[in-house]
Amino acid sequence: MPEIHLYDPVLGISSLSCHHGTIIQFSYLCPPKKLERMLDLVTDRTHDEARQGEAFTPLFNKAGGFKKLFYIESYGCAMNFADSEVVASILLDNGFAATAHYKEADLIFINTCSIREKAETTVRKRLTEFRVLKREKPGMLIGVLGCMAERLKAKFIEEEKLVDIVVGPDAYRSLPALVEEAETGQKAVNVLLSRDETYADIAPIRLNSNGVTAFVSIMRGCNNMCSFCVVPFTRGRERSRDAHSIINECKVLFEQGYREVTLLGQNVDSYYWIDEQKEETVTFARLMEEVALISPLLRVRFSTSHPKDITDEVLHTIVKYENICNYIHLPVQSGSSRVLQMMNRTYSREWYIAKVDRIRELIPDCGISTDMITGFCTETEEDHQQSLSLMEYCRYDLAYLYFYSERPGTLAARRFEDDVPLDIKKRRLQELVDLYRIHSLRAMQKEVGKTFKVLVEGVSKKNEDELFGRTDQNKVVVFPKGSLKKGEYVNVYIKSCTAGTLIGTQIIEKNLK
Ligand code: SF4
Repeated sequence: MPEIHLYDPVLGISSLSCHHGTIIQFSYLCPPKKLERMLDLVTDRTHDEARQGEAFTPLFNKAGGFKKLFYIESYGCAMNFADSEVVASILLDNGFAATAHYKEADLIFINTCSIREKAETTVRKRLTEFRVLKREKPGMLIGVLGCMAERLKAKFIEEEKLVDIVVGPDAYRSLPALVEEAETGQKAVNVLLSRDETYADIAPIRLNSNGVTAFVSIMRGCNNMCSFCVVPFTRGRERSRDAHSIINECKVLFEQGYREVTLLGQNVDSYYWIDEQKEETVTFARLMEEVALISPLLRVRFSTSHPKDITDEVLHTIVKYENICNYIHLPVQSGSSRVLQMMNRTYSREWYIAKVDRIRELIPDCGISTDMITGFCTETEEDHQQSLSLMEYCRYDLAYLYFYSERPGTLAARRFEDDVPLDIKKRRLQELVDLYRIHSLRAMQKEVGKTFKVLVEGVSKKNEDELFGRTDQNKVVVFPKGSLKKGEYVNVYIKSCTAGTLIGTQIIEKNLK
């Protein structure tokens, strides 16, 4: 479930996010050659291109007394970045210390994404760079974590001889033991998937955080078996995390100064946890409500929703709480019911449109984003026209668009021929991109002249006299700094816009409730 964002002049990136598909982000200002290159980029949901390869930055001194110095570099979706935070927490608890510089590390971990071949190639290239270092530091250990580790298992060690440790997403608790095993010269592998591991009791150590916004994993895995997706094979069956641990984590984040949490799962609407003490069931709507009640100053977002699962209960909860953001990521993947059936999405075009209508009926100003794939197996021009017309109908605020890339082991790879030529996939993608650009520009222009409550996230990368933040509907806003600080709320009047950014001015006193 992928997504395309427009070029963000504040952050200076064409960020890419998506659900768990592949995503591409590109720039409005992008020259054709660069756009072509970017169309090749793909990632995973909430996948932020600017974060790919990001290293864990220790928040404290590594002064003496530690077993080994570790370095983690992460790729892929927000779930993977959240997992790196869990890994860091496990290692720190077990006497290791972190470094942001791989050249000084004794242990290098690379947390991988398997969503597309491109993502895996990036990891293999990076390993080549580590190979040089390992020659100079023979005692250094290299570990591969995440979806690519799970997909390839021990084969990874056969293919990449320098790798000492291979660990799948459900086996991070065994990392300290695996490091000990690898220290003896053996290769250490644990890729067991679990039916119940949620790391509920582990307080993640935040990665390179802005101190204002944080992701909180509420579940793991996925039961949906969309035919193009590798997630059910790399992250296992769906499990919901203990609601108390989620609420506690959000409370602690709020106490630490965070002002926005994004509840994260492959399919958040199917969150389901039974509180045995109270003998009650916690649904996603209930969980979201509990998090919203922590404080009206804590914004709540969530990702990702599945059109078949999002309920009126969720929509009514969004309406009820001002601090639950009016923004829903609702991946459609295709506008053709025939293709949706082959994708095993379990809804039709009509069902999806009815969901969008319902969202707009209950939450008229709701921002809606999507993921769409062009060139899925057997897709005809007529199917593609249906994707275009669905996009025309929905007029998304954000779209994460990508062309189909077959992944080994998926249902689609086993059942269908990847029969749409690459040039046609790319041409169709470009047509979706062109239409999306028109809609997203209009979506920005219609905000000019309005006032929005904005959560300040930091200083604009383009201009240090300006701050940036987001509206409830997830639109980026820049405005003069004044005396504001990150983590504060401010009302901003929108004077103008670019394709990716609203430009405004503060109109009311800071520290809004
Ligand atoms: S299988 Fe699950 S993770 Fe993959 S696209 Fe479908 S809903 Fe998303």
